[in-house]
Amino acid sequence: MSVQYDLHSHSTASDGSLRPSELVRLAKLRRIDVLALTDHDNIDGIREARFEASKVGLQLVAGAEISVSWGRSETIHIVGLHLDIDNPVLLKGLQRLCEFRQWRSEEIGRRLAKKHIEGAWEGARAFAKGNIIGRVHFARFLIKQGYAKDMKQVFKRYLVQGKPGYVPGDWATLEDALDWVHSAGGQAVIAHPARYRLSATRVRQLLGEFQDLGGAALEVVSGSHSRDEIQRMAQWCCGCGLLASVGSDYHGPENPYMDMGKLSAMPANCVPVWESSAWISSQEVQAATAPDTLPLAL
Ligand code: AMP
Ligand code: MN
Ligand code: MN
Ligand code: MN
Repeated sequence: MSVQYDLHSHSTASDGSLRPSELVRLAKLRRIDVLALTDHDNIDGIREARFEASKVGLQLVAGAEISVSWGRSETIHIVGLHLDIDNPVLLKGLQRLCEFRQWRSEEIGRRLAKKHIEGAWEGARAFAKGNIIGRVHFARFLIKQGYAKDMKQVFKRYLVQGKPGYVPGDWATLEDALDWVHSAGGQAVIAHPARYRLSATRVRQLLGEFQDLGGAALEVVSGSHSRDEIQRMAQWCCGCGLLASVGSDYHGPENPYMDMGKLSAMPANCVPVWESSAWISSQEVQAATAPDTLPLAL
């Protein structure tokens, strides 16, 4: 049997709904051999996930999904894999993003209050089990209050650009994000590339900048990509010589669109990120490192 990889997933350390240990156990049940935990802008769940992975016999890749502001108003997500979670450059960078997230969550609350939706910040915070409050937590609160029937509708009505609960991001630059990942000994991957609304010219620009900064891979197979998008991303990937990654972007059982253990196979024309020498050497480092101390309480 071939090794099953899932290199993009979320826990309660960001906007997923399973604790890191529960996520690892589910991955094991779904026959994933190598799982990357990649919470938004933090690595708070890694120790717990690593501890569980060592118990159940699964390889845990320490990751993070870093929010990047690119161009005039685009938000791009960069997945960092094989991160040294004690690296001070990475930790300082993520700390800055978490401080922005704190302010942004309060601002979302204020903007919704102006639209007569009271108590949104407190409501969102009650859904957040880790240190960050993201749009998904506001979405869960708004659905509970009956403002929308599901995630899709609540984002469309309240939380995307031009809607009352949207606050423009002041995220990392692409340059900073890759610097943090590389300082921490990791590899950088452009997450779910088909999700961005970019013209062909802007895509070429993004891929060019990413490669110039030493970016490693494109997430060709994503839980949020259709079959056609996977083929299109495979062509982009081969066209510019990037490696290819796979990730479900799993957020928990209530999001049926991005399930775990159901990813399409990697297109044959792509070179998988795990075949790179950087990947192989970081695996050796992981194998030589004893499991961490106590899991973190989230
Ligand atoms: P944030 O980083 O707090 O701005 O939230 C981004 C997260 O919101 C993504 O990682 C998804 O989990 C979720 N998200 C973004 N857009 C949508 C959408 N249209 N429908 C459902 N979830 C979404
Ligand atoms: Mn998310
Ligand atoms: Mn993302
Ligand atoms: Mn994600």
